[in-house]
Amino acid sequence: MKLKRNIWLASALVCSLLLAGCGADTSQEPVQDTGSAAVQEGSGNTTVAADEPVSREVFAMDTYMTVTAYGASAQDAVDDAVAEIERLDDLLSVGNADSEISRLNQSGTATVSEDTGVMIDQALSLFDSTGGAFDITVFPLMELWGFTTEEYQVPSDDALAQTLQHVGADKLQWDADSRTVTLDDGQEIDLGGIAKGYTSGRIMEIFEEHGVTSGLVSLGGNVHLKGAKTDGSKWRVGIQDPDNTEDMLGILEVEDCAVITSGGYERYFEQDGVTYHHIIDPETGKPADSGVTSATIVSKDGTLADGLSTSLFIMGIDQASEYWKQHADEFDAVLATEDGKVYVTEGIADSFTCDADVTVITKD
Ligand code: ADP
Ligand code: MG
Repeated sequence: MKLKRNIWLASALVCSLLLAGCGADTSQEPVQDTGSAAVQEGSGNTTVAADEPVSREVFAMDTYMTVTAYGASAQDAVDDAVAEIERLDDLLSVGNADSEISRLNQSGTATVSEDTGVMIDQALSLFDSTGGAFDITVFPLMELWGFTTEEYQVPSDDALAQTLQHVGADKLQWDADSRTVTLDDGQEIDLGGIAKGYTSGRIMEIFEEHGVTSGLVSLGGNVHLKGAKTDGSKWRVGIQDPDNTEDMLGILEVEDCAVITSGGYERYFEQDGVTYHHIIDPETGKPADSGVTSATIVSKDGTLADGLSTSLFIMGIDQASEYWKQHADEFDAVLATEDGKVYVTEGIADSFTCDADVTVITKD
């Protein structure tokens, strides 16, 4: 029997779970994109008791995000966090022709902001360490498949081959000192594979500056946890079952880390009975088909967790296990495969509860 996931409205999700004190504290469910850009006030500006959460929801980066904090400076911390989300969304959005990334893609060269520079640096080191699985130059492929416009199509082999010629982060020039990027002919970049993780990491820094010791941000399918719960116990994070998104694959009990999942069920279209999702294998130019149906990364580094969730989803179970063995000090993972198996790396094996049989990936 699978753990049954209760269904809450995303806007009420974190609050109701925290207050209810049962089930998972937070579920990484993806939320419906309503296209609304509204920012909704949470608990307002009234005085808040130390154990009462302050929570605000914002629609950004194509998803609903909920920021929650506890303690005396929770309101200021949450307000600053929401402002930071909006600032980063404006900077990074490929859907906004005026964003820094869009302007770079149009002109082919630009000197970028510090935030974008940090992300490009980390994206390029992920490109190297993952053997090219994580590649921010897949954007022309995202366009070809229609993921940027929602006018989906399965491209011809010729169109794929042509577009693939421009893909490859090794063809991009990056000068870290001057923060100057120069794209190769026909290249365009998209930081969508790490933007949410970077944003959640920035929110943890803002919490820190405000002295918030307990809080979290949930960004459509991902969470980043500051400290533990106010009673000192760990947060319980539900991981969605990729085969049936109404159910949970399992629950992680963790603190002070990001928990970020990539799955083919998050954004996809169907044609002639085949499902095509938004995580592209840069080797084939097609949606990754590695046998991994969901990759969850647990790490203190949100950007790394986001980049690796995308990467391990593309790599498949063998390569992903090998990658973890080489980088076990940086992250842990829960992986589900299409044959119904669930794998967890050694470092979080004791923190993971699952009804199915779980294979523990060990270092040797
Ligand atoms: P989501 O953002 O939907 O939670 P991911 O973190 O896995 O899921 O990121 C998927 C996004 O990353 C895509 O929408 C696209 O913008 C970008 N992307 C797709 N394939 C790759 C890839 N191979 N390397 C880097 N970024 C990618
Ligand atoms: Mg990712």
